[in-house]
Amino acid sequence: MGTTIGRRGLLAGAGAALFVGALESCSINAVGTKRGSPPTPTLQLLPLHASPDRITAITVCTRPFRAQGPRLDVEQVGQKTVIHNYGHGGSGWSLSWGSSGIAVQKALAVGERDIAVIGCGALGLTSGLLLQRSGARVTIYAKELPPNVRSSLASGLWTPDSRICLEDYATPAFKQLWSSMVRQSFQTYQNLLGLPGNPVEFIDSYFVSDAPNAPRRRGVAGDTRPKFAELQRELVPDLIPDSEDFGPGSHPFSERYLRRNTLMMFNITAYARLLMADFVSNGGKIEIAEFHTPNDFAKLREKVLINATGYGARALFGDESIIPVRGQLARAIPQPEINYGLFYKGVSFVPRRDGLVFQVVGEDDYYGFNDDTTAPDRGEAELAVNTIAGLYKAV
Ligand SMILES: Cc1cc2nc3c(=O)[nH]c(=O)nc-3n(C[C@H](O)[C@H](O)[C@H](O)COP(=O)(O)OP(=O)(O)OC[C@H]3O[C@@H](n4cnc5c(N)ncnc54)[C@H](O)[C@@H]3O)c2cc1C
Repeated sequence: MGTTIGRRGLLAGAGAALFVGALESCSINAVGTKRGSPPTPTLQLLPLHASPDRITAITVCTRPFRAQGPRLDVEQVGQKTVIHNYGHGGSGWSLSWGSSGIAVQKALAVGERDIAVIGCGALGLTSGLLLQRSGARVTIYAKELPPNVRSSLASGLWTPDSRICLEDYATPAFKQLWSSMVRQSFQTYQNLLGLPGNPVEFIDSYFVSDAPNAPRRRGVAGDTRPKFAELQRELVPDLIPDSEDFGPGSHPFSERYLRRNTLMMFNITAYARLLMADFVSNGGKIEIAEFHTPNDFAKLREKVLINATGYGARALFGDESIIPVRGQLARAIPQPEINYGLFYKGVSFVPRRDGLVFQVVGEDDYYGFNDDTTAPDRGEAELAVNTIAGLYKAV
């Protein structure tokens, strides 16, 4: 144990990467090896125990994707004013503070101080907390609570433009809205760093390829389907730290090519518990309730509601603009000393402290599109783990 803590402390600032070569006085060539000696890796990554027998759970969830982006308009349902806050695709955690900030402004503009939030996932919890910070009294009504909500089954990375809308709908107005949501969320997340249990932290993540300059995902040749919007580099480049490349011989993954990026990661178990605890300690109430139609809202005492039902809005509001995008995680026994992520051959590895996450993400964002099946696929889970395990074997 003592050794582990010592290594963690040593590694903390460098994302588990030790640049031993740089500390030595001998000369270093372009790929970081000592001249006239066998290649010495300059980037050392602690070994990951990736094997299928260490899988502890396989979870499946559907992202609530809308081609036009999240729904944030105001609707009158009988006597109730409903502010929608759903349809965030693969970006719900990332955009939650910014999106909920917009919904909360609209709710407060009605002039009521008792406000209901329907839903207790990423969007419901952040809506509830932001309402409280503005002085509202809030009750969350939901049929499920964390860890039994879909938000609890996310990968846990800062991915604010992941399946957020189709390119055709990324109008100047949408881009402005999205940018403001991203910046608001990003700033809020900075206040959640360094807390006990690490609900939010930064990690280094390595995109690994067998050839130089390989695309992250290959896509499908001749694909004529509408493209998903990619907005980060265009609209918030200042929020993306520079990447760094490592050639063959300068890292432990044999003759491969690595690109290192620094990313924000959410340890969702700790983070959701923190949000729930903060909401309750601020005087928030949580009631278990299921609504079958919007008319069921009539029984609530509040006149103003934020609808944060995520994928559930499809059935509740008959909103068929929500398209399910299936995603499966293989969760594995945590390895606290590992604090770097990997991406290799369409598989993502996220070093979450509440369980390592392996996921086949496919060759493009259509992977899992319009698939609402939730049966776990053991073969896919093992493929994810074995693909990452393959990196630690010589080629
Ligand atoms: C595999 C996968 C990986 C992902 N990875 C990431 C990631 O790395 N980063 C990221 O930012 N996002 C990620 N996402 C997306 C993110 O998980 C979603 O966008 C987000 O969870 C949506 O949150 P939500 O609060 O809208 O919905 P939910 O979490 O589904 O919460 C909805 C709430 O509403 C309640 N509810 C629904 N219907 C009713 C009803 N009729 N009556 C009463 N209550 C109801 C539910 O019980 C629940 O409490 C991922 C998604 C998937 C599937």
